Amino acid sequence: MNNAELFARAQLTIPGGVNSPVRAFRAVGGTPPFIRSANGAWLTDAEGRRYIDYVGSWGPMIVGHAHPQVVSAVQAAAAAGLSYGAPTAAEVELAELLCMLVPGMEQVRLVSSGTEATMSAVRLARGFTGRDAIIKFDGCYHGHADSLLVKAGSGALTFGQPSSAGVPTDVAKHTRVLPYNDIAAVNAAFAEAGERIAAIIVEPVAGNMNLVAPSEGFLASLRALSTRHGAVLILDEVMTGLRVGLRGAAGRYGITPDLVTLGKVVGGGMPLAAFGGRRDIMACVAPLGPVYQAGTLSGNPLALAAGLATLNLVQSPGFYERLEETARTLTAGLVEAARQAGVPFSAQSIGGMFGLYFRSSAPRSLAEVLACDTAAFNRFFHAMLAQGVYLAPSAFEAGFVSSAHGEVEIERTIEAASQAFRTTARDAC
Ligand SMILES: *Cc1c(COP(=O)(O)O)cnc(C)c1O
Repeated sequence: MNNAELFARAQLTIPGGVNSPVRAFRAVGGTPPFIRSANGAWLTDAEGRRYIDYVGSWGPMIVGHAHPQVVSAVQAAAAAGLSYGAPTAAEVELAELLCMLVPGMEQVRLVSSGTEATMSAVRLARGFTGRDAIIKFDGCYHGHADSLLVKAGSGALTFGQPSSAGVPTDVAKHTRVLPYNDIAAVNAAFAEAGERIAAIIVEPVAGNMNLVAPSEGFLASLRALSTRHGAVLILDEVMTGLRVGLRGAAGRYGITPDLVTLGKVVGGGMPLAAFGGRRDIMACVAPLGPVYQAGTLSGNPLALAAGLATLNLVQSPGFYERLEETARTLTAGLVEAARQAGVPFSAQSIGGMFGLYFRSSAPRSLAEVLACDTAAFNRFFHAMLAQGVYLAPSAFEAGFVSSAHGEVEIERTIEAASQAFRTTARDAC
């Protein structure tokens, strides 16, 4: 079956034909390739076409697809049984490693998805402080728990509004949504309701509205304000953890959070995520404390095998320096190709993640991301896909490189982009 046949068939039994919405290509139009296999930096679709992959399963595949050490670790774990629902030595090993690597992590609980990690961290912050309100930022994504599927209220309304049907207004009203990088807005929220705010949750580098870097001092101000008002600072590092550096964004920007959430890279492509942080806060989690949290498959042995093998690889000397260099070479090449084609474009990378923007400078907020030329992105996306380069199928996603992206892949990508930018510019006229 080809991609189109598979997509048509998928839509009969799966809503939209996909198990996570952005995979459906609704933003860019067209038929998503159905992936048959992947190796290193490359994907192969159902029609045998190959693509250089800059999605990396939305972040986890930092050592490339089907890395032999990761695959053999998972195979060995599978042969020893798929799940026990009882403690294992591997869980202790990963917990110890994370507590050693991640700033502020004194204890950690393993879960199966980023959504579970952030949902649990928010509940824990509320249980610890005895407060209900939380602050999040416009354009940050923290998974699909009710409290976090909230957008800013319109006009004078300071209460958050549900951003998804099915989220009760009574839940959403406890979430205040502020503009990213706007410390004055955070000051104002604390001045007004500081004693009611349980937590600030933030992506320390925003990677779910394309890539938006934190402004100078933004994270430090969040740290200072939450300390002053007794609120819990949750750094949602599900994307940035082990991605922008071995110690995540907390290490990169020198911020110690009260709680931190991890996912994506930590599981090396398997369902594994984590939340952890200050010992006194983690002491509130069941069975030690009154905040309930549990999971049948939490700490799954196969997921742990993939995660531990991946963490072993990323700790090799120079790993992040090389990854960062790869991302920098890519974005610099794309910027130059766009300049030659006369297309308004900018790009930036932070560690192993990058953002591409069809505007002249990198955006600092969701409002600025929304000002990018999405039609130009969509033309560029399809021109790249046609040449075997698989970018995220939306102008509102970050991109990822892996250690398997070598000079050959980067050069081919930049060549394809030179062509694609010319098409993009021509079609615009
Ligand atoms: C991906 C992501 C999540 C959700 O993780 P899932 O594993 O998809 O549930 C949460 N927060 C951030 C910052 C993410 O990038």
